[in-house]
Amino acid sequence: MADQKQRIYLSSPHMGGEELDFINDAFEKNWIAPLGSNVNGFEKDLQHYTGRGHAAAITSGTAGIHLALILCGVKPGDEVICQSFTFAATANPILYQGAKPVFVDSEPDTWNMDPALLEEAIIDRLTVGEGEESSKPKAIIAVHLYGMPAKMDKILKIGEKYGIPVIEDSAEALGSSIDNRKCGSFGNLSILSFNGNKIITTSGGGALLGDDEDIIAKSRFLATQARDDAPHYQHSEVGYNYRMSNIVAGIGRGQMKVLDDHVNIRRQIHQFYFDNLGQSWLSGDSKADLKNQASPMGVYFLKEPEECFSNRWLTTIIINPEETGGVSREDVRLALEKENIECRPLWKPMHMQPLYSESPYYGNGVSEVLFEFGLCLPSGSNMTEGEREKVLYFLKKELRIDD
Ligand SMILES: *Cc1c(COP(=O)(O)O)cnc(C)c1O
Repeated sequence: MADQKQRIYLSSPHMGGEELDFINDAFEKNWIAPLGSNVNGFEKDLQHYTGRGHAAAITSGTAGIHLALILCGVKPGDEVICQSFTFAATANPILYQGAKPVFVDSEPDTWNMDPALLEEAIIDRLTVGEGEESSKPKAIIAVHLYGMPAKMDKILKIGEKYGIPVIEDSAEALGSSIDNRKCGSFGNLSILSFNGNKIITTSGGGALLGDDEDIIAKSRFLATQARDDAPHYQHSEVGYNYRMSNIVAGIGRGQMKVLDDHVNIRRQIHQFYFDNLGQSWLSGDSKADLKNQASPMGVYFLKEPEECFSNRWLTTIIINPEETGGVSREDVRLALEKENIECRPLWKPMHMQPLYSESPYYGNGVSEVLFEFGLCLPSGSNMTEGEREKVLYFLKKELRIDD
């Protein structure tokens, strides 16, 4: 067995140092639970950082999407449009509500929801066949995958045009921005995740953000068992136990102090891989690109569109075996795994998942290409210089890249 300490992870927790001060403060005041000053402070930090009016600290990003769907009025049988190229946590809360996901593929510039396909999907869902009832989708869930901002401008315009609220899954994109406006501030409702592998972590946690005070207040109500205002326990609607604890929020307050450092380091790591692995961007139509736009190394990166700033949560590469002498992304992944270096394929699109095989899907093939050829590289802000060099060494070795 290899020494687990030596393993190089994709992304592991990286504490800044002040987290314990906030936790100690909670211990001293015996404010272990419920809620308390760390929760309030963390919510303020998040509002301030994202420029959002209101934030509710909760147990996970998944809980955030669930609450957002409830607040958008999603009921059993309703349809919800969701980016196909994402982690299952984006889509699963649609099923929690008994609703039906409708998946939309990505565009090649950001790898996120294709606005043209989104509109096509909406029009198609609105078109009523004979004897059918019109089913206007109740919400749109767009994701900023790997920290790269989606084309929110266009997506929000389409949402407005058809009167459908947009839920922004910013779980991977805290610290990213579009035209200097922070991700987490675009959606009618937005969510963040502080899971262990995210850019900052509270060990596990999330947030729901919005500008309407009443709606975020309602989310706090739902997240604390939906207790009516009465001295006894009285309930008029179903509630959840989704609120963040005061201890966990203490970790979050400490992590907020190092968030921008983490973003800078992750961007440096991305630059390091880019400078050393061929300097080729993938742009335009990704499938055609793999065939037509030869890379000196057969390795491609995702370029940051001009208006976008990505936190580069994970560095992702596309490996074209036709240019690497037949070496595939899976060959590279397995070779690095032998060295105890964790790499992973890009997210398997939801429309390809057994769980969602029956769901409607509006596609263009982009996410399938990304899944087939893409690989996530170790990108943690706590990686040492030596670890970066080690990953690069074995990447070059497997890809037969000479200096
Ligand atoms: C991590 C993640 C989530 C879920 O967040 P949790 O806090 O782990 O529940 C949702 N969507 C995306 C895109 C994620 O990466």
